[in-house]
This record gives sequence, C-alpha cells and structure tokens, in this order.
Amino acid sequence: MPRLRAHLLALLGLHEEDADGFAAQAWHDERHIGGGYPVFSPDQPTRHGPSLRADHGRVHFADADRSTWPGTTEGAVRDGNRVASEILTRLR
Ligand SMILES: Cc1cc2nc3c(=O)[nH]c(=O)nc-3n(C[C@H](O)[C@H](O)[C@H](O)COP(=O)(O)OP(=O)(O)OC[C@H]3O[C@@H](n4cnc5c(N)ncnc54)[C@H](O)[C@@H]3O)c2cc1C
Repeated sequence: MPRLRAHLLALLGLHEEDADGFAAQAWHDERHIGGGYPVFSPDQPTRHGPSLRADHGRVHFADADRSTWPGTTEGAVRDGNRVASEILTRLR
C-alpha cells in the first residue's frame, strides 16, 4: 500500500518519520470479513429506512445503519437499545 501511505501523508501534512506503525488493511482480502462498509444508493435509506425502523407486529429490526450513528458499532448498540426499549414498552 505504498501509494495509499504516500497519499495519506500528503493529505494529513505528515512526514515519513511521523508514520511509524502505519498499517493499512484490505478488508475484502480477509477470509472471515470479506468486505467493508455498506454503501447505499441515495434513495435506499429514504425509501426503505422508515419501514425498517418501524415494528412489524412482533418483528423488530435493529441495526447500525438505521441508527443515528450509521456504520459504527456505537450505532448498532444504540439501535439495539432503541428496539429493546420499544419491545419493553409494548410488553408493559
Ligand atoms: C471491515 C470493517 C471495519 C469496521 N470498522 C469499524 C470500526 O473501526 N469502528 C466502528 O464503530 N465500526 C466499524 N465497522 C462497522 C461495524 O462493524 C458495523 O456498523 C456493525 O457491526 C453493524 O452492526 P449490526 O448489528 O447492525 O450488523 P452486523 O454486525 O452486520 O450483524 C448482522 C448479523 O446478522 C446476521 N444475519 C444476516 N442475515 C441473516 C439471516 N438471514 N438470518 C440470520 N442472521 C443473519 C449476520 O451474520 C450478522 O451476524 C466496520 C465494519 C467493517 C465491515
């Protein structure tokens, strides 16, 4: 990844000596990961988001990409909490 390294150093205004321990990973080459972040087309979140955030009877969906922190584990945890609260409210 020498080109990526050089590009990042230039972008961040750093020098070679600032980049000790630099590591880059091609996630799609990892056997147990096989890819990176999802990329949605512009209309997908607006078209499908509302129905994926809504409950469907006893079926609820929770995931990072419908959260207020999309694409992060923080978002996944927050959305799990959101859905758990909805279910608890419904059960009371
Ligand atoms: C390479 C990579 C690096 C990342 N690095 C970071 C990072 O540094 N920091 C960060 O905050 N976030 C990072 N993320 C993002 C973070 O991992 C995700 O946002 C988060 O894991 C999403 O959680 P989730 O519960 O929404 O979905 P997932 O973690 O994708 O969980 C969905 C689960 O559903 C299962 N599943 C799918 N279909 C079915 C089915 N039909 N039946 C049963 N089970 C099913 C899947 O096997 C999976 O276990 C990274 C993501 C990738 C891919």
